[in-house]
Amino acid sequence: MNTNALNIKPNEPGPYDLVIANGRVIDPETGLDATRHVGIKGDRIAAISATPLQGTRTVDATGRVVAPGFIDLHAHGQELPATRMRAYDGVTTALELESGLLPISDFYADVAKEGRPINYGASAAWTYGRITVMEQGAQPPLPPPDGTITWFDNAFAYTGWQNTLATDEQVTQILNWVETGLKEGGIGIGINGGYAPGYGRKEYYALAQLAARYDVPTFTHVRYVSVIEPNSAFEAIEELISLAADTGTHMHLCHLGSTSGCDVTDCADLLRKAQERGVRVTTESYPYGAASTAIGAQTFRNPNWMAQRGVKSYSAVEYDGQPMTEASFNALQQSDPGAIVVLHFLEPETDPADQKLLDTSVLYEGAAIASDAMCWTDSQGNLIQGDVWPLPTDAFAHPRSAGTYARFVRQYVRESQKLPLLEALRKTSLIPAQVLEKSVPQMRGKGRLQVGADADIVVFDLNTITDRATYVEPAQTSVGVQHLIVNGEFAIQDGQLLLQSLPGRPVRRPVQV
Ligand SMILES: [Zn+2]
Repeated sequence: MNTNALNIKPNEPGPYDLVIANGRVIDPETGLDATRHVGIKGDRIAAISATPLQGTRTVDATGRVVAPGFIDLHAHGQELPATRMRAYDGVTTALELESGLLPISDFYADVAKEGRPINYGASAAWTYGRITVMEQGAQPPLPPPDGTITWFDNAFAYTGWQNTLATDEQVTQILNWVETGLKEGGIGIGINGGYAPGYGRKEYYALAQLAARYDVPTFTHVRYVSVIEPNSAFEAIEELISLAADTGTHMHLCHLGSTSGCDVTDCADLLRKAQERGVRVTTESYPYGAASTAIGAQTFRNPNWMAQRGVKSYSAVEYDGQPMTEASFNALQQSDPGAIVVLHFLEPETDPADQKLLDTSVLYEGAAIASDAMCWTDSQGNLIQGDVWPLPTDAFAHPRSAGTYARFVRQYVRESQKLPLLEALRKTSLIPAQVLEKSVPQMRGKGRLQVGADADIVVFDLNTITDRATYVEPAQTSVGVQHLIVNGEFAIQDGQLLLQSLPGRPVRRPVQV
């Protein structure tokens, strides 16, 4: 935990560039929850005051919550329109950590050229290294990775990288790719193990050791998602915990809920006991009972996959908003293995017992809320990217790509009152900042509403904030975010996205090459 050095900073003198007046100001680190005026100078918070402040510009936030902008540790869609959807959901920083990208320098350069409304960043992707090494000589040949997710989607046409054990020499080559990504400033190591479950335990051990050497976290989608043994999620989480204990590496378990499915009670218990013993594991969850993944993924290749995921019918899988049949499932897996489908592993909307299971992961003490937001595709399945806005009405992605944070606040704070607002905002801002701040110094200035902190701020109406994205019509922005301020500039003002405003900056570790 950091020493709260930020909290004791006195207010800087005015006038301020921007004042947010009269809001219900919340800082999850100090516990501040009171009517305050916030003064911003440049890209920093310069004053938090009980008495009015003078600013070049002032916005009135009476009756609204003023909180640290939401920090999303798990955001695959890094394209411009995907980040615009996220801005409406109150997110000021969205990072691709679970899967990651390579080469890292290409990713940051490409994004910087185009600009983003919110802060962005990525981890070094183990899978990209593994695909490159394991598919050497494959026919037709796979081009080298180019820092995009499209390259990864195309790799699903090949299966050797997914289910083949690497030789010692191949492990060395894979690790070289990953290490280069760390030297280029990648935020830790993305270990998307569920997509390449054929890795050896020594390969994973070597990755954990590499992370320890650079003192960065790993972000794992564990290799098994089954609720029945052997090769269960429980076993895969044990594998992660044991490596964290052996190596001392900080290992982050991605989407506790969707990984564990209906076995979440035991999986959460396992994780909690490890944390109580001081093992450096952290986690995250999203507030949906459906997962989203490529139909060609290994999780769908086992003939017993339905029992493994705890679902009873092919109709639990939806493609483009429509339930699938055995025939349409098999046909799509054959023709387009990279196609993204939605899998309902719980039915919280209709089954109170399933809602309880979902709550076990969402309310897990110390878990961040992270969206696992996917890229948006058009009705032909093509990636929607570039300066596109609004999204076409037929744009498709899991609704969590648009509504995770507004949904979480609506359902858990306003409607069911399972969490006080301050606790909820810890999970959306402070906790994700703390997951990263030891290895990414920039994050110490985020996730807090304090003098000296980055001016990444969400102003929202607790009475109206809601997600609108559904499984059938996902391309709908959240509503209720009045203002979104990123590095001191408006990305959203009076509920409207400012299309020309691109104040997002890279979140990145220092570059060593
Ligand atoms: Zn995942």
